[in-house]
Amino acid sequence: MTALLKVRNLKVGFRQDGQRVAAVKGVSFDVERGETVALVGESGSGKSVTALSTVSLLGGSAEVEGSVTYDGREMVHADDKTLRQIRGNDISFIFQEPMTSLNPIMTIGAQIGEALQIHRRLPAASRRAEIKRLLGLVGLPSEDAQLDRYPFQLSGGQRQRVMIAIALACEPALLIADEPTTALDVTIQAQILDLIAEMRQRFGMACVMVTHDLGVVAETCDRAIVMYAGRVAEEGPVDELFGAPIHRYTEALVGTIPAANPPGARLPAIPGAVPPPGDRPAGCAFAGRCEHALDVCASRPPPEVRRGAHVGYCWNPAS
Ligand code: ADP
Ligand code: MG
Repeated sequence: MTALLKVRNLKVGFRQDGQRVAAVKGVSFDVERGETVALVGESGSGKSVTALSTVSLLGGSAEVEGSVTYDGREMVHADDKTLRQIRGNDISFIFQEPMTSLNPIMTIGAQIGEALQIHRRLPAASRRAEIKRLLGLVGLPSEDAQLDRYPFQLSGGQRQRVMIAIALACEPALLIADEPTTALDVTIQAQILDLIAEMRQRFGMACVMVTHDLGVVAETCDRAIVMYAGRVAEEGPVDELFGAPIHRYTEALVGTIPAANPPGARLPAIPGAVPPPGDRPAGCAFAGRCEHALDVCASRPPPEVRRGAHVGYCWNPAS
C-alpha cells in the first residue's frame, strides 16, 4: 500500500527583491497511515514552509517544485477545488497561535459548526449536538452558553482546544500540527499533546508534528525527520535517531535534551545560528557550526549514511 502522504524532492523558493531565496531545497519523506512523524529542527530550518506547502497553503510569492501526493492525489499546483476538498476533509492543519486562525468576531460554536457544515454537510438541526460532543471531546465545557463564547473570552490553551475541535470536526486522516504548543505554558502544553495523542489513537489519524522541541518528539512521535537549512539532515525511528544519531547536527540537538545532561547542568545550546537561505555553503550547511567538520564538509554535499532503519547525510558521522 502506498504511503498516505508522499513528499518528493520538494523545493520552495521565495521571490524577494528580484532574487530567488531557496527556503526548502529538495525534501523527501513519507507519512504512513496512522503514523506520527516529527519535522524537527531549529527555527529557520524550513519546517513550516515544508508543512504549509504539503497542503498548498503558502502565499503567492512562493515558488514550489517537486511532488506532494495525498493518497495518490497530487497537491502541488492542484486546482482550488481539489485542494479545498483535501484540506478539511482529509487533512487538517493546526497552527502555533490559535488566535490568528480563529475568527475573532464569530462565536466558537459558530466556527465549529461552520466546519461541520462545509466538510461533513451536517444539517443545522444535528449540528448543535455535534458541536457539544466535539467540545466535550477536547475537554472544554459544552453547556449551551459555552457555544456563544468568543475567542477573546478563552485562554490560550482553550483556544488551541477549539482549533483542535475544528480540525477534528472534519474527521481527518492526517493532522498537520505546526508548533501547536509553543505558545502555551508547560502544563497546558502537556495537556494539548495528550489530547492530540488520544485523538490519534481513537481515530487512527496520522500526524505530522512540526516542532523545535526534541522532548515533544521523544514523547509523541514514531519517526522523525531532522531538518537543517532547508534539507533533511537525518531521518529515522525516534529511538534509533536519539540513541545513535548519524548526523552531527542531530547529535548536537540530542545533546540539548535535559535528560542527556546531569540534573542542574546548564542546557547546552548549539553555538551559532541556522545560516539564512542566501548564505549557505555548497556542501553541508551545518559545517560552519560543527565541531567535527572536515575540509570537505563545506564544499561538497554530504553522502548518504545508512544505519539500521535510519539514514543521515554526513561526511564525518557520529556513530
Ligand atoms: P521554521 O518553521 O523551521 O522555523 P520556516 O519554514 O518558517 O522555518 O522558514 C524557513 C526559511 O524560509 C527562513 O529563512 C524564512 O525566513 C524563509 N521564509 C519563510 N517564509 C517566507 C516568506 N513568505 N517569504 C520569504 N522568506 C520566507
Ligand atoms: Mg515554523
